Amino acid sequence: MNPVNFDFHCHSTVSDGLLPPAAVAARAAVNGVDCWALTDHDALGGLPEAEATATELGMRFVNGVEISIEWRGTPIHIVGLAFDRMAPGLVAGLDALRQGRIERARRMGDALAAIGIPGVYDGALAYATNADLISRAHFARYLVSIGIAKDVGSVFQYYLTPGKPGYVEHQWATLAVALGWISDAGGVAVVAHPGRYKLSGGDMRKFLDEFKALGGQGIEIVSGSHSNDNVLHFARLARHYAFHASRGSDFHGPEESYVDLGKLAGLPLDLKPVWRLFR
Ligand code: AMP
Ligand code: MN
Ligand code: MN
Ligand code: MN
Repeated sequence: MNPVNFDFHCHSTVSDGLLPPAAVAARAAVNGVDCWALTDHDALGGLPEAEATATELGMRFVNGVEISIEWRGTPIHIVGLAFDRMAPGLVAGLDALRQGRIERARRMGDALAAIGIPGVYDGALAYATNADLISRAHFARYLVSIGIAKDVGSVFQYYLTPGKPGYVEHQWATLAVALGWISDAGGVAVVAHPGRYKLSGGDMRKFLDEFKALGGQGIEIVSGSHSNDNVLHFARLARHYAFHASRGSDFHGPEESYVDLGKLAGLPLDLKPVWRLFR
């Protein structure tokens, strides 16, 4: 049977989600998801638990990851799906990305100390549910806890986005290298939430040209981060590039996500769903 309610983008406590992998799986199943991928940031550690629970609950499971890259100075996320999670290149590459996150987090802490907010690196680390993966989301949660802003969204707005005092530049993976990891592991590369990037129309096309030339095959169309206009716009681009379409909530937790697992519109019917590419 073909998947109907598939959700190929969400996070657990192995990265910056609020629920452990088994609880994310259970929530997806309760919400009627029939084919599911866990896509933690730069980490594969949740996949065995996610797969075990998903299978127990009768969902089809797909290995997933959301890889942080930088393209011409813009941070972009690439979702990898249906790969071999033991593939050495992918495993080593993600290890290095997580190490880089620690070094970036130290610099973020220094930058915040310089504006009179000390101790934020240690504070954020205490919010990291996997000591091996620190994200700006952990900084945001800690900063809310000490009353710096009223909620996570405001912390990002005033402290953690480009131009704001706690934001530091960082060298992520390159597009070519990340797509190499995914294809060497037998997986499918998907552009995550394209509507979120600060790229002009022309630069988005340049990016998609390169993504396609390097073997990228998928793009998220229906996403928790997308407006209706985003869906229409990126559906047009998917047709133009002959990309397969993905659908994912980007669920992080009950209190922090606009869209729950599996509670998304369907893909535009003429688009090819990305699961057709899975082996
Ligand atoms: P990082 O990968 O460490 O740079 O952190 C990116 C993560 O921060 C995203 O995956 C989201 O979980 C979170 N994030 C980014 N921007 C926002 C925002 N405006 N509001 C809430 N969370 C955000
Ligand atoms: Mn996140
Ligand atoms: Mn993302
Ligand atoms: Mn995500």
